[in-house]
Amino acid sequence: MPDILIVGGGFAGMWAATGAARLLRTHDASATVTLLSPGPDLVIRPRLYEADPAAYRVPLDRVLGPVGVRRIEATATGIDTARRRVTAEGPGGRTELPYERLVLATGSALVRPRFPGAGLLHDVDTMDAAVALEEHLRALPDAPEGPGRFTAVVVGAGFTGVEIATELAGRLRAVAAPYGRADEVEVVLVERDEVVGRGLGEAARPVIERALDELGVVRRLGVTVARVDEGAVHLSDGAAVPARTAVWTAGVRASGLTAQLPAARDELGRLAVDEWLRVRGVPEVYAAGDTAAAPAEDGHTVTQSCQHATPQGKYAGHNAAADLLGLERAPFTTDPYVTCLDLGGAGAVLTSGWDRALREVPVAYAKARKRAINESWIYPPVDDAEEILRRADFRVGQRRPMPEPTG
Ligand SMILES: Cc1cc2nc3c(=O)[nH]c(=O)nc-3n(C[C@H](O)[C@H](O)[C@H](O)COP(=O)(O)OP(=O)(O)OC[C@H]3O[C@@H](n4cnc5c(N)ncnc54)[C@H](O)[C@@H]3O)c2cc1C
Repeated sequence: MPDILIVGGGFAGMWAATGAARLLRTHDASATVTLLSPGPDLVIRPRLYEADPAAYRVPLDRVLGPVGVRRIEATATGIDTARRRVTAEGPGGRTELPYERLVLATGSALVRPRFPGAGLLHDVDTMDAAVALEEHLRALPDAPEGPGRFTAVVVGAGFTGVEIATELAGRLRAVAAPYGRADEVEVVLVERDEVVGRGLGEAARPVIERALDELGVVRRLGVTVARVDEGAVHLSDGAAVPARTAVWTAGVRASGLTAQLPAARDELGRLAVDEWLRVRGVPEVYAAGDTAAAPAEDGHTVTQSCQHATPQGKYAGHNAAADLLGLERAPFTTDPYVTCLDLGGAGAVLTSGWDRALREVPVAYAKARKRAINESWIYPPVDDAEEILRRADFRVGQRRPMPEPTG
């Protein structure tokens, strides 16, 4: 019987499991930690806008196995807090898992629109979707000739929309160039707001706009999508953009499992949690990552980000284990908030603080930092129990030393 059950094998769930295992080991406790996840891998979700997305995964067993966390491959379908049981469906059928402490870390999902043709939209929210987009792009040179063959429409100019639009400019060219079709490539960014990236801050906007100009990304602002068909994206102002590729990025919501707890949720479906990440009103249940509206510094609430999911996981796991052992729990704190937005072939942009002040650094430095985050900082160590447990300590931050730019 699992004493601590973690549901979800993303950043928050994986670090919750290792964080709990670390405290139990420190106290020589015999309690067990079990993680429930539908797939065998940690998906490096922040990289799914990049080319070759299938590579961005880490086998969970190489992180959990060395520190004694058991993994069950199944999808949780129900939570009964009165009976302290989670129901799950897996390859072996339906199962019921009791728990003493539960960490809900089932992440978030893109909210898909319902307009006609919405089924034709691609996205980069999950590994399957990102791989499907990659396969679609690679098949474009074999698609019938005609308008929009190498045009992609990206809907939503928020964080993910800007990253995939700027990246697609290069990815489409790489696909079309060997066939002498690079000059047919076009990326159109559609946004219902009058500006791109409002949520990314005023200061970053000129940098983003320059990057879009440099890469030739066309903006259609103040409009949304009315319908999509095989050959075009039809906008709300009546215009049709001939395009064989449409990518939806607008709107993310916390996992539906959050609705199964008798607790308050915010407008993103995230659970209200206290300073220890315990779900308010449900004492044996903790929430972490995109499922939790945790308090961040200076009265802010965490964002749905890897940056916040990782420390939340470590604290939630630690606190669930501390709670079980009757030890003092640690109030959640985060590193100061920063953002690093990829701008594809035009570099990247860095901001710091909740007011998103622009870091005036060379583009090459911002890009190097994005690469460091995506290719190294967010990856867990594997196969090495000592290093996994060291990094699972909530006092160890994600960021690594990186020399400040000179000149
Ligand atoms: C394209 C893209 C770019 C991004 N860029 C950045 C960035 O630059 N910086 C940043 O900080 N963040 C970024 N993010 C956001 C970041 O990826 C998420 O905030 C982060 O992954 C949240 O971690 P999580 O563990 O809460 O959820 P997830 O990583 O979504 O993991 C949830 C896990 O729960 C599992 N699960 C779901 N339902 C169930 C169920 N019923 N039963 C069992 N398991 C279940 C899922 O399979 C998954 O393994 C980006 C996201 C995307 C899509």
